Amino acid sequence: MIPQSFIQDLLARVDIVDVVGKYVQLKKGGANYMGLCPFHNEKSPSFTVSPTKQFYHCFGCGAHGSSIGFLMEYSGLSYVDAIRDLAQNNGMIVPEEDRLLPAQRAEVTAKSLALSEVMTKAGEYYKQQLRTAPQAIAYLKKRGLTGEIAARFGLGFSPDAWDGLRSVFSDYNTPALVEAGLVIDKSEEEGGGRKRYDRFRDRVMFPIRNTKGQIIGFGGRIMEQGEPKYLNSPETPLFQKGLELYGLFEARQSIREAGYVLVTEGYMDVVALAQMGFPQAVATLGTACTPTHAQKLLRQTDHVIFSFDGDSAGRRAARRALDACLPHANDDKVIKFLFLPKEHDPDSYIREFGTDAFEQEVRDAMPLSQFFMREMIGDNDLTTAEGRARTQFDAKPLLQAMQSSGMRLQLVRNLAQVTQTSPAEIEAMFELSQPVARIQQAPPKSKRNAPVGLERQIMRILVAHPSLAMMLDESVLADAAALAPDGADMLRHLVFTAQSMGENAQFAALAEQLRASSSDFDALIAELAEQAETDIDIVRLELAGALRQMRHQVLRAEAESLALGGLRTPEDMARYREIAQLQDQLKKQAAAEAALR
Ligand SMILES: [Zn+2]
Repeated sequence: MIPQSFIQDLLARVDIVDVVGKYVQLKKGGANYMGLCPFHNEKSPSFTVSPTKQFYHCFGCGAHGSSIGFLMEYSGLSYVDAIRDLAQNNGMIVPEEDRLLPAQRAEVTAKSLALSEVMTKAGEYYKQQLRTAPQAIAYLKKRGLTGEIAARFGLGFSPDAWDGLRSVFSDYNTPALVEAGLVIDKSEEEGGGRKRYDRFRDRVMFPIRNTKGQIIGFGGRIMEQGEPKYLNSPETPLFQKGLELYGLFEARQSIREAGYVLVTEGYMDVVALAQMGFPQAVATLGTACTPTHAQKLLRQTDHVIFSFDGDSAGRRAARRALDACLPHANDDKVIKFLFLPKEHDPDSYIREFGTDAFEQEVRDAMPLSQFFMREMIGDNDLTTAEGRARTQFDAKPLLQAMQSSGMRLQLVRNLAQVTQTSPAEIEAMFELSQPVARIQQAPPKSKRNAPVGLERQIMRILVAHPSLAMMLDESVLADAAALAPDGADMLRHLVFTAQSMGENAQFAALAEQLRASSSDFDALIAELAEQAETDIDIVRLELAGALRQMRHQVLRAEAESLALGGLRTPEDMARYREIAQLQDQLKKQAAAEAALR
């Protein structure tokens, strides 16, 4: 866990205008900056960045958030990675959640920087070699690629030499070259001779980038005969195959524009698809789709289409993708599976049938629910009890891996239908968490009511200006609990969170912290993101007024209940008089403050 105090400091130091400005062209307009929204397709700017609130908001699609949120949305970084990235760019070191000493952490950072430099240099070298390699250029042309696409993906060529990289790395023996996976050290016992040689030789080179665009690995494809056809960088501190997707950096904008991502099996597919008008494609790197891949993809878009070759390897890969996606499948996500005819990959399919036919295939791709049922039924004979039981047995781990959602309920229903059981029986038998089927039969679960009236007004002010939480004490929280017990917990949580952030608490940092702890405040944050900032002195008076009014209502309720009781004891009488005095004081305070306005 990264301490909240650090996130607060970080957001105080970072300027969201700089963070967003790196990716979106911003123009000053009044108090805010405006630009074209990177999260939806638009021609006139409705995307605003507020330097005072340190928040962005789009009036077109409603996207909003802090600098951290922007990096997560835009670059597909995780929460922790977004914080790391911001910290690094602002010379701050994230306090160690992984128990590394600052010196060790600095060493790790320095090392990955050094590796990153080595990769960039190698990438430049390969690119430059391509210019003077007619056979590689001819190969790419034969595959239908233009120079423009080759340049967009930074394609290169590794010459047919044992130590080609020596010409760019004066110290060819540096350990960094091995760590980066660019060279191979031959072990001593294999005999003398050449000790170190280039890993990639006589191959077309595909640089693999991370979401920030830095080269973290290479894929090399052989042009004629030879093995292996595809050669990837080994796992290095920069590059882990199970985490990275080829082409994601290059495809981000297109994924947004197309509204979906197409996941293919190899980098040649990605480049060829981009050439033929489908730039929204990415590929896993010689591994099956992992849950991390699925998560990364679903962070970029709500609509993922996996495309698999029509062979048996493609079928197996599709099944792995299904397994990886189910834990992340949700009611607002669309996941589909496209199976091309046997002997075809996307490239060859489009060549033979054209782009329209491929687009139709994309539209007709098999929904996850259908593929799920097909996989679960498999060869089981549903006319027998054994076959039906086996189908349930196969489906159990997959359904257990899913979150409780409408989608899971749909799958449970379908499964119940073909296996002659009821959805509730399946949920009970599989011990599914928070069964959905049963909840729907029971009376609806009471959800926390959205706060209204005074309470809502107070919360709005506190979220927008968390430093004012200092004005609230235990007696105010008691008032709130007496008036609206339902929202009192929410108010208490808000006050506690804001107070723990101190006098310098700001909206953006509080919003981050609230978001991390509960979704109760999401609607309020969205509303405030959209609104112009109000002057804090005016807001302070407004808050004082609201608190006073709350006090007044509590006192009035108490007085009414005393009166109803008939004021029989001297204590009741005394309290009744005291309440009248307190109410009087409140009125005077209100009058005094009104005079100030
Ligand atoms: Zn937008």
